Amino acid sequence: MKVISSRRVGLIGWPVAHSLSPAMHNAAFKALGLDWRYDLLPVPPGELEAAVTDLRAGQYAGANVTVPHKSAVMAYLDGIDDAARSIGAVNTVVVRGEGLLGYNTDAPGLVGAVDDAGLELSGRRALVLGAGGAARAVVYALVRAGCAVTIYNRTVMRAASLAAHVQKQGLSGAVGWLPGEEALRELDLARLDLLVNATSLGMWPKVDESPWPEGMPLPSHWAVFDLVYNPLQTRLLREARQAGARTIDGLGMLVRQGVLAFELWTGCTPPADLMREAALDVLESER
Ligand code: NAP
Repeated sequence: MKVISSRRVGLIGWPVAHSLSPAMHNAAFKALGLDWRYDLLPVPPGELEAAVTDLRAGQYAGANVTVPHKSAVMAYLDGIDDAARSIGAVNTVVVRGEGLLGYNTDAPGLVGAVDDAGLELSGRRALVLGAGGAARAVVYALVRAGCAVTIYNRTVMRAASLAAHVQKQGLSGAVGWLPGEEALRELDLARLDLLVNATSLGMWPKVDESPWPEGMPLPSHWAVFDLVYNPLQTRLLREARQAGARTIDGLGMLVRQGVLAFELWTGCTPPADLMREAALDVLESER
């Protein structure tokens, strides 16, 4: 049995109460015999700097970072991995001595989950809904994998600025944005083959919401990936399946990004299946 030392990691965000990460990570720590613990660290907007200072005090080996702090946290770190810098968002912080290092495991988590689902990304023509923290990682990952990506977001300027940011990274795929819902409705859907929902629409408790405009068809040749994992079967995925499209839920990405964060903190590879089971147990206990 491998015991490194008694250490803690946690989730910095606001709100964090419904996170599945404590269950996933604590199950993996236990399975590997690591005397570690994953805590929820609720940090309201305006209190991020103090929370990061606490991380430096030595009690924590690292943290995950979620809404609304994924971009803001970068200002307080000592080093940022190249991919996280290109994405413009950090979801994993590792404490190394006195220094704090930032990573983004959402992007490789998405690629891993898509790969697990047997979907080839290269050459796909994707429509990404959303331009928040998760969408930054999604668009980066897809463009880097050679997809042609179009971004649609309720707040058009955020889509435009995300597209401009990704264009500057010199990646292999192409990226553009839509100037509003009318442009979305006018899109030639036959020319696309992948839809990714990176908005929070459809997430519990507002499970009747969908990011897809009412009355617009979902083509049967599409693959539809919903980042939302609570619930697993979102309205978007139900409607996509009914339309004959292939669907991928958000749990695979959640587990993959968690596995990568775990490896960064501990140097050990956690049992991904067990982490998935632990997350599913929480989801089922909430039903
Ligand atoms: P975020 O930074 O707060 O961004 C939220 C996005 O949703 C923005 O694009 C926002 O549009 C859009 N949105 C919110 N309410 C909307 C509404 N009523 N109508 C239209 N658009 C709306 O959040 P995030 O971190 O990107 O997370 C987005 C989703 O991804 C969440 O459900 C999260 O749980 C999920 N996620 C999943 C994973 C995974 O591993 N599966 C990882 C990360 C995130 P505006 O810009 O117009 O506000």
